[in-house]
Order: sequence, then C-alpha cells, then structure tokens
Amino acid sequence: MTQLPKKFVLELCESKDETNRFSASDDRTPEQLIRVLDPATGNIWGFVVVDDTRRGPGLGGIRMAPDVTLWEVRRLARAMTLKNSAANLPFGGGKAGIVCDPVEMARNPGMKRDLIGIFAEVLFSVEQYIPAPDMGTNEKDIQHIYEHYSERLGTHQHMRGGASRLPDKGGIPIDEWGLTAHSLFAAVRTVEELEPDFKLKGAQVVIQGYGNVGSVTASKLSDVGVVITGVSDIHGALWHPHGLNVEELNSVRREPGGISNYSGQVEKRFGLDQIDWLLETPCDILIPAARPDAITARNADRIQCRKIFQGANTPSNKMTEYYLQNRRNIVSYSDFIVNVGGVMGCAVELKMTMEQSYREQVLLQGEDGKIYMERLITNTVSSNIRTLMSRLSDQKDGDRIFREEAQKLAQERLDHPDDIWL
Ligand code: NAD
Repeated sequence: MTQLPKKFVLELCESKDETNRFSASDDRTPEQLIRVLDPATGNIWGFVVVDDTRRGPGLGGIRMAPDVTLWEVRRLARAMTLKNSAANLPFGGGKAGIVCDPVEMARNPGMKRDLIGIFAEVLFSVEQYIPAPDMGTNEKDIQHIYEHYSERLGTHQHMRGGASRLPDKGGIPIDEWGLTAHSLFAAVRTVEELEPDFKLKGAQVVIQGYGNVGSVTASKLSDVGVVITGVSDIHGALWHPHGLNVEELNSVRREPGGISNYSGQVEKRFGLDQIDWLLETPCDILIPAARPDAITARNADRIQCRKIFQGANTPSNKMTEYYLQNRRNIVSYSDFIVNVGGVMGCAVELKMTMEQSYREQVLLQGEDGKIYMERLITNTVSSNIRTLMSRLSDQKDGDRIFREEAQKLAQERLDHPDDIWL
C-alpha cells in the first residue's frame, strides 16, 4: 500500500529561456511551473502550473492519475487560460496534478483525505491558483481544501480554496446539473440555427465516453429528436444504426461493467481492442467525451461524421483539425469554446461566495441557481459560436480553421480583462 509523505514541499521548475528562438509558438511560457515533492525522499508527487493571470487567478482542476506529467498539466493549464478568457470570466488558467492511483484512493477514503490535506497545505502558498475538481478528484476533495484554507484565513468568504464544492455547503453541483453537457448542447443548437442544412431531428450522434458529460449530452440531444447511434465507455462500445435507448444506457452506466450491461438491440459491440473503431462510424455528429487525443492523424482519414463537438479536453489537435476542416469538410468545434459549462459553474460559485447580492440575484431565478446558470452558459456559448462562424465566413479564400479563430478570440480577450460576462 502507498505510504504518504508527512508533508510536501514545492520546487520551482526552470523554464527554458525562449528569447533566442527563431519563431514564436502559440504557447507562451507559463507564469509558474511547480513540482510537488516529498522532502524526505525527493520523490515527485505532483505538479502545479499557473499559466496566465492577466484576467485573474488561474482557475482549473486537480487531476489525480498515476501517469500525470508536468507536460500534461502544462497543456491543460493553457487550455484553461483559453477557456476562461473566451468565456470572458475573471480568471486565468491553472491546473494541478497529483501522481497517484485514483482507484487505490477511492478504495481508501481516509488515505485520500490525508493526501488532499497535505496537498492543500503546500498549495496554500501558490496564491494565484484556484483548485477545482478534475479526473480523480471530486466536490468532497475541493470542500476539504476550502475548509482548510478557511481555517488558515479565518473566514469562509474567500476564493482561494476552490470551486465546485459540496452543494449543501454553497457549491454549484456541476455534474448533477450537467453544466458541461449543457454547453455542448447549446453549441449544437447554435450551429443548427446557423446552418439551414444541419437539422437535429433524426441526426445520428456518436458519443465516446458515456460518463457525466457524455450521458447528459445524450439525454439532452435525444430530447430534441437526435438518434444516439453509438456510445462507449471504459468497458467497450455499442452501435445500432436505428438508435440506442438512452434511458436504459443511463440506468446501467454506473453499474459494474457500465454500458456492456445494455440489453437493448445492437448491431455491433466493440471490445476494448476495437473500442476506438466507434469513432469511425458514419454519423452526423461525433462527440469525444472521454480521453485526450481521441482524434489525431492516426484516424483522421477514417472519421465519417459531419461535425465534431469536443466534450473532452484536448481530444484532438490543430493539425488534425486543419486537415479535417480543409480536406474533409468536417468542422471540429474546440473544447475551450463548447465544454465551458463546468468552469462557468465554478466561476459563478466563486462570485456567489464573495458577493451576497450576486448570490441573491442568481438564486432568485429559480431551482437554486440552475436556471441562471443554464441561461448564462447558453448565451455565452451561442454568442461565441456566432462570432467565430461569422469571422470564419468573412475570410476571403482563407483556410483558417475554427480552432485558430477561437484562439484569436481568446487572445484578444486576454488583453481586455475588464470585460466580464458574469
Ligand atoms: P467521467 O469520468 O464521468 O466519464 C468519462 C467516461 O469516459 C467514462 O464513461 C469512462 O468509462 C469513459 N472512458 C474512459 N476512457 C475511455 C476510452 N478510452 N474510450 C471510451 N470511453 C472511455 O468524466 P466526465 O466528467 O464525463 O469528463 C469526460 C471528459 O470531459 C474528460 O476529458 C474531462 O476532462 C472533460 N471535461 C469534463 C468536464 C466536467 O464538467 N465534468 C468539464 C470540461 C471537460
């Protein structure tokens, strides 16, 4: 069994001096790159990256995974900068990673609590980072960090100790309300409004990753007449050209074995060795909502959908998306524009913690703030997609792709931190 250190220490990582380079890249050097170490052994236990604080402190999740690297945390922190900026939130980008096995931690809640406790203690000195949940961490962990900081600060009214806390303690239940799925749904609806030959009724949709994001997206889309023809989870994939029963999928997804317990009609079942073949099925909309790098050069030629809406973070990359849009006529709507609902929930929660009058305004709209949240997400996503599609259609013989235009928009907003949409 894993032995936890008594405490952690932080070590700043040297970032390379980029001034001698011949060309600039999209990625600026992050403001802070930090390793988290056990001082007794020197073993690395995690990473914290504060990418950019021009709009505010870096807000982003803590990922728990055995193989999380500084590079992965850095890439995700950058994505948070773009996400928070594009949504005109008063936050920058940040992310943290803890190197450990989340399955072992789930089996030993006491050990996980201790680990989160010592991580919170060392994180306190990183003033420009606000933690939130990510893979392997949850609202309970963030609540623990928040309580720890409240004790140190002598008040509960602070933004330091995290967002997406427990709902009964003032947190916004991001997954229970399906806020990220709501942003994906808003994106799909907006594209339908903009494109006369793209109709949701009867459209075929394939979703990789039938978890919190994927399952709620499936429900919302099937409510407006979409046919969910394919889904996958960590146990396998299912495909049926006439549609899968979303209600039954939702009832089995949390059982041991997940969607492999589905008893409805299917034409194909893919095992783990073929699980990614699901991505290649013909459909109108493909939604990657599981792991990074689902769609890359290795399968770009086999993808057969009309549009991709990126539920997962970094499920593809710029070069693949360039090829898909300009050679295959498949537009991929970027993660940091369309999966923004979760972080918007975090931002609203933080503001509600700090401002009583804002809290009242949110709650007044009903269902404990859910209605306010959904409206804000719909308006933000819809406005951004309209702006981006209009800029793309204005380019004369250009070949800029959706992601490039979206990055430009996020960059512009980094330079206008006073423009806030909350
Ligand atoms: P989750 O853990 O609830 O669900 C993930 C699902 O993906 C599970 O069903 C899992 O079995 C499945 N999965 C894992 N590996 C797979 C694979 N190789 N092939 C097919 N399925 C696989 O997670 P979630 O909260 O739904 O998040 C999904 C993705 O969306 C993640 O990339 C996450 O970073 C991103 N995201 C989530 C939120 C949020 O609010 N939850 C916000 C923004 C982005």
